[in-house]
Amino acid sequence: MEQSVTSSSPDRSGLRVLVASSEVHPLVKTGGLADVASSLPAALRQLGHDVRLIIPAYPRAVKQLDTIEPVGSLHPLGSRARVQLLEARHPDHPVPIYLVDAPEHFAREGNPYVDLSGRDWGDNPERFLLFCQVIAEIGRGVPALGWRPEIIHGNDWQTGLAPALLHDEAERPALVFTIHNLAYQGLFDRATFDRLRLPPALWSLAGLEFHQRMSFIKGGIVFSDRVNTVSPTYAEEVKTLRFGCGLDGLLRQLGTRFQGILNGIDYRVWDPATDRLIPQRYGPETLELKASNKRALQLEFGLPQNERAIVFGYIGRLVEQKGVDLILSMLPRLLVHSDVQLVMQGSGDAQIEQAMLEATRAHPDQIGVYIGYDEDRAHRIEAGCDAFLMPSRFEPCGLNQMYSLRYGSVPIVHRTGGLADTVVNATPERLAEGSATGLLFDHSNADSLWHAVRYALRLYRDQPDQWRSLMRAGMRQDLSWERSARRYVALYEAALAERR
Ligand code: ADP
Repeated sequence: MEQSVTSSSPDRSGLRVLVASSEVHPLVKTGGLADVASSLPAALRQLGHDVRLIIPAYPRAVKQLDTIEPVGSLHPLGSRARVQLLEARHPDHPVPIYLVDAPEHFAREGNPYVDLSGRDWGDNPERFLLFCQVIAEIGRGVPALGWRPEIIHGNDWQTGLAPALLHDEAERPALVFTIHNLAYQGLFDRATFDRLRLPPALWSLAGLEFHQRMSFIKGGIVFSDRVNTVSPTYAEEVKTLRFGCGLDGLLRQLGTRFQGILNGIDYRVWDPATDRLIPQRYGPETLELKASNKRALQLEFGLPQNERAIVFGYIGRLVEQKGVDLILSMLPRLLVHSDVQLVMQGSGDAQIEQAMLEATRAHPDQIGVYIGYDEDRAHRIEAGCDAFLMPSRFEPCGLNQMYSLRYGSVPIVHRTGGLADTVVNATPERLAEGSATGLLFDHSNADSLWHAVRYALRLYRDQPDQWRSLMRAGMRQDLSWERSARRYVALYEAALAERR
């Protein structure tokens, strides 16, 4: 039975939500979006909402799924393509997943956005337009599905055209759009817009046009009922020239239709008390057990198994945003201290990869590097290091500092975006009251980072009680998704109430 989009469910707690994302953990992941697309729907489901996911049918995602049933074949409005819609379940995930099966678009080696050599797929606009057309079609109602969302929740530029395609339809679902990183906008030239045969009316300053180019993300921002980003501080920052990537004016204009909601972390995956991917499980009451994870990490990275050494960790994409270059610039000052070790994992910019490899060649007893993406090893690093460096120039929310808090690996972070919202700085007052959880530094440069790191060294060596208090306070911080999921429910309700 097809449900009407306007009929409200008897109990407002049971919202029908379609969450659209180009990646979802553990099926396919390049960054934090995948974690959020996995844990938020699960948390909403816990709250009693009928949430379903939709992703492209990448072959490696399909391979991991248990039961896959065809829903039917679809010919989305505005497209000449015919796609198969599949419905699947993942053995460890409570949310039904719809897959957009269009092999010409999505069945290829490489990650969702780039080929094996790291270049963007040339037909990304076609690929993600098709994805958006299918999302829009489900919004209009696909009888074979027997389910119609009241809310479509799009994420990042890959889903930005769905609201643009739906916004002026009378019987449409409410549209919510989340910006996970404003720096990635899905910008293409005017010829691409023409090639995609989108309704010409969408090409305007009040539409997809952005400085004579076509912007996917603008579609999500302009045409949704509610827009949010992933932390309150980032929501303020992107309204400024410095962080707004050219969209600050538009975001300011949204007024109360735009807000920040902090991400949570998924304790089913990230909890040192239950984590099966780490050698030794531990909790705030058994901090001493963390030492064996440190020894194992030192062994894994070929570093001396010195229990007294302080091990700093880094995990992340190697791009300018993440400020890894600041860590590298600080090395001469850091490595003077023979009891300091650094473990780094990431991939991305070839120059940064090279610089990291050179650093480990020059200091094999102090620096361990893994170039690549390795989820399991990320758990071992979080469990094994003493402090975690996150000197991002900007950070919409950031997940690794939250994983670090949970794992008692004291985060040292730049005061920006979600980093500022999740880490409580170790000022004397906060330390005294036991609420401090990490260290924040104010300026995006190696000096500022070094000052924070030097302070961490002092605390670690000279005030072990204070250090343990930092660890414990971080481990006890509530970073669960439940609180954030309730905020999303409020956002959905507002979008429904004020559907424009
Ligand atoms: P972003 O989305 O900008 O990459 P986040 O901190 O929000 O940053 O999320 C990054 C996610 O990707 C985290 O779960 C992090 O552990 C993971 N990640 C990034 N690089 C790697 C890597 N090389 N190996 C394992 N996990 C990684």
